[in-house]
Amino acid sequence: MTETTSCTAIPPSLRVAVIGGGITGLAAAQRLMSRSDNVQVVLLEASRRLGGIIRTEAADGFLMELGPDSFITNKPAAIQLCNEIGFTDQLIATDGRFRRSLVLRNGKPMPVPDGFMLMAPSKPWAILTTPILSWTARLRLLSEAVIARRTTAEDESLASFVRRRFGQQTLERLVQPLIGGIYTADPEKLSLKATMPRFSEMEQSHGSVIRATLAQQKVDRKRSAGQQNDLHNSSGSGARYGLFATAAGGLSDMVAEIERVLRKTGRVEIRLGLEVTGIEKPTASGSHWVVQLRNQRPMTFDAVIVTLPTHAAGRILKPAISPELHAALLEIEYASSAIVVSGHQLSDFNHPMDAFGLVVPAIERRKILAVSFSSRKFSDRAPAGQILLRTFVGGAMQPELLDHDDDTITGFVNDELRSIFGMKTEPMFSEVIRYNNAMPQYHVGHLDRVARIESLLKNTPGLHLAGSAYTGVGIPDSIASGQAAADDII
Ligand SMILES: Cc1cc2nc3c(=O)[nH]c(=O)nc-3n(C[C@H](O)[C@H](O)[C@H](O)COP(=O)(O)OP(=O)(O)OC[C@H]3O[C@@H](n4cnc5c(N)ncnc54)[C@H](O)[C@@H]3O)c2cc1C
Repeated sequence: MTETTSCTAIPPSLRVAVIGGGITGLAAAQRLMSRSDNVQVVLLEASRRLGGIIRTEAADGFLMELGPDSFITNKPAAIQLCNEIGFTDQLIATDGRFRRSLVLRNGKPMPVPDGFMLMAPSKPWAILTTPILSWTARLRLLSEAVIARRTTAEDESLASFVRRRFGQQTLERLVQPLIGGIYTADPEKLSLKATMPRFSEMEQSHGSVIRATLAQQKVDRKRSAGQQNDLHNSSGSGARYGLFATAAGGLSDMVAEIERVLRKTGRVEIRLGLEVTGIEKPTASGSHWVVQLRNQRPMTFDAVIVTLPTHAAGRILKPAISPELHAALLEIEYASSAIVVSGHQLSDFNHPMDAFGLVVPAIERRKILAVSFSSRKFSDRAPAGQILLRTFVGGAMQPELLDHDDDTITGFVNDELRSIFGMKTEPMFSEVIRYNNAMPQYHVGHLDRVARIESLLKNTPGLHLAGSAYTGVGIPDSIASGQAAADDII
């Protein structure tokens, strides 16, 4: 069964199918509407709701993000989209009282050294005094400032870069768990250039990440002195939200607002519960694309934006259109993970839980990747005296843990919470949310793969690809990618 809502008033000149109603598809549709009066969009979504991975639920005073919980603000696309749809007054920043992260060291949670941003140590003193690293590892980390830069330009793995510049212990104890939390990936395989190009640029421009970080700090200090009276600027920059922002009522509110704006145009038809099974071009020279649907008649469009994960995009793009494109899409690997969302009394922990969360190095050999203290990170996520946790399991380095059923996963997550934070009683509730093949893995050579996909697309005019598989895995990247596909069409 399908639902059809909204419809056409103006005779449009261009009919565009947007396949997938996650944030990428919504951003693409919104960009098409805002940049042209001559486009009609049909948004095709297989499930019965919009938002894709983004999903918020509320129950018993808890506001639970079941997928992403926030987005980074130094990539402007998400905040700019919120500006365009009039949603910025709903955005909130992280709670400054708990702004720190913990990392597990020999079974005990310890603070990540102050000022350590993924791998850029902005406060050398914090490195010299951190108990996370041995004395020799601390000195090895700081010696990065004098280690000669690499002379070759080819891609390398994130692990190779960190080992080369900061040493093995910094990789194992800090960078792997911090980066693992973002990409749920194996750093030995992750491409530095596709994931953290700025560190490679820092090495090239300043000869060292530490020296580049300290130089940037000087610039930032000067700039912030000049901007002290401009805290409430409305430029749409991320500065006023801190590094991460979210919606006060949860990210699903942002999805709902984009949907409302789209429906208001009268030029977007949103079709839920309609699965696309294939995309074809009836004649090689023709300009129309035929979209095949499960249990429905095919539809014809002038252009198509496919926003599905590449394994799904590859399946619907028949090899007949381009066998090379079909194969290139299927080459991008994905990892699976699960989030266990749980509610607790704060007094049930021996630990004060006074941070945004904990990351767990693989070398600690535990069954969890990270725990986000959701209601410490953002306000109004749990009733007073209670706490909402999101515990991450699986990823590229422990996929076998996801073979277990939900009860077993909840069981070992509770064991870890007991052992690490001294949890005294069972959670008030726990829910396991699985993400199968949802996180694209940007392995070494990823940028070449994406360049090849882009060049193959040149032979299929009217066909556009967007989403988190190509140029960035987060919400702002996905939005920017959907908007870029829309801009190409316009
Ligand atoms: C567990 C997890 C946590 C994350 N946390 C964060 C975070 O905190 N911050 C952040 O910035 N990013 C985070 N991300 C990444 C972020 O969620 C993604 O970048 C973004 O949501 C991707 O959106 P999308 O629209 O490209 O894909 P999706 O959200 O996957 O949407 C694709 C849509 O296509 C539909 N679809 C699939 N097949 C078909 C078909 N054949 N026909 C029609 N429709 C179809 C699906 O139902 C889905 O709705 C996280 C990702 C995961 C997996």
